[in-house]
Amino acid sequence: MSHTYLKKALRTAESDAGDVREIVEKLLQDIHAGGEGMVRELALKFDKWDGDIVVSAEQVAQAETQVPEALKRDIQFAHDNIRRFAEKQLSTIQDCTLEVVPGFSVGQKQIPIEAAGCYVPGGRYSHLASAIMTVTTAKVAGVKHITAVSPPRPGVGIPPAILYTLNLCGADTMLNLGGVQGIAAMAQGLFGCPKAAILVGPGNQFVAEAKRILFGEVGIDMFAGPTDSLIIADKTADPALVAADLVGQAEHGYNSPVWLITDDEILAKDVMDRVPNLIADLPQLNRVNAEASWRDYAEVILCSDRDEMRKVSDTYAPEHLQVMADDLDWWLNALQNYGSLFLGEHTTVAFGDKSAGTNHVLPTSGAARYTGGLSVHKFIKTVTWQRADAQGMRPVAEATARISRLEGMEGHARTAVDRLQKYFPGEEFD
Ligand code: NAD
Repeated sequence: MSHTYLKKALRTAESDAGDVREIVEKLLQDIHAGGEGMVRELALKFDKWDGDIVVSAEQVAQAETQVPEALKRDIQFAHDNIRRFAEKQLSTIQDCTLEVVPGFSVGQKQIPIEAAGCYVPGGRYSHLASAIMTVTTAKVAGVKHITAVSPPRPGVGIPPAILYTLNLCGADTMLNLGGVQGIAAMAQGLFGCPKAAILVGPGNQFVAEAKRILFGEVGIDMFAGPTDSLIIADKTADPALVAADLVGQAEHGYNSPVWLITDDEILAKDVMDRVPNLIADLPQLNRVNAEASWRDYAEVILCSDRDEMRKVSDTYAPEHLQVMADDLDWWLNALQNYGSLFLGEHTTVAFGDKSAGTNHVLPTSGAARYTGGLSVHKFIKTVTWQRADAQGMRPVAEATARISRLEGMEGHARTAVDRLQKYFPGEEFD
């Protein structure tokens, strides 16, 4: 590939990974040894929270009075869209049966996971949309108990809008906890919540690493760490919108990469001129995040044609992928690696992040090479079964006995032969 970098990142997610792993391993060990007491200590240390860990009915009722009516309507709109899309996804998952030989059937059925733990990030921003994305999807999938955690604000607890949303979407237990301590509390079943069988939801590098380390002991949705976003733009794209969309995603955090791939050098330079001005115009916190993201993690890549743009994009396997280019059908058909795709300038990542209906919990750091984002599928186990009568059992048992003996597994072979002898007495079986 002959692409050139008009702007190259100084740092990547991999260059940050080592330290984080060490910090998180130590925190998990401390919590394992110290239980709820250690969790309280960490809540005080990281989030300055010394109030109740379990959210009370009064805290929820109070939150409801603090959320403006207009925001409640917007939350309801977003919730309806995400719920309806999750229900549509659920309708595509089917049980099935196959008669492999006459009298011998195999099948699959779907069983919802019993207890899920949802992480709702809240360090820098109040990610109330993450509450909708995780809890609503678990609820539609049929999860019986949903625990949710989110970082408490000093003296307040989980911010009212998040609490209101968690309750609306159907969380059963809510804990005033963030970071590694929140993840560990759900995995271990502390503070009265059942042990989560799966942990879902996005978070910063500490949260994502904690989920990765705990995987095995508990299921996880995917590696959903610091957000990354890529825009593919050709000469038909509007540089003002391309620049605004890059900045919109760079504000996520100092380590949230944004990438632009284009085959139009004039557009690339125009966008690169605009971005610093748009960042300078943001409120303080957002500006600091976006400046660092643009300075350290952003890349602008010039390609020769659309096929090269496609190939380069697929090597990034971005979490969010926007295409502002001609022939959107070609792009929808050709692109292979992304968490969620936004086609044309009438859509943008923020729509998917907040209210359009698709889920915003998506694979980051290249995980889109092997997984999609959060959906009802992640909360449902596809399990299999088999059932037979004597005639159907016969050819399966004969083949099984021979394969088992070839493998040296005599005990397995005898489980097949015992059945053949019981149901076909007097016949000879190897
Ligand atoms: P967060 O809730 O993920 O993290 C806050 C917690 O981090 C705190 O409660 C604290 O306990 C812990 N913490 C902070 N500093 C620490 C340290 N030095 N050591 C150990 N623990 C520490 O909130 P955030 O920090 O604002 O990050 C939110 C993240 O979620 C961003 O990176 C954003 O990009 C990401 N996000 C991703 C998606 C996705 O789908 N991939 C969606 C939304 C948000």
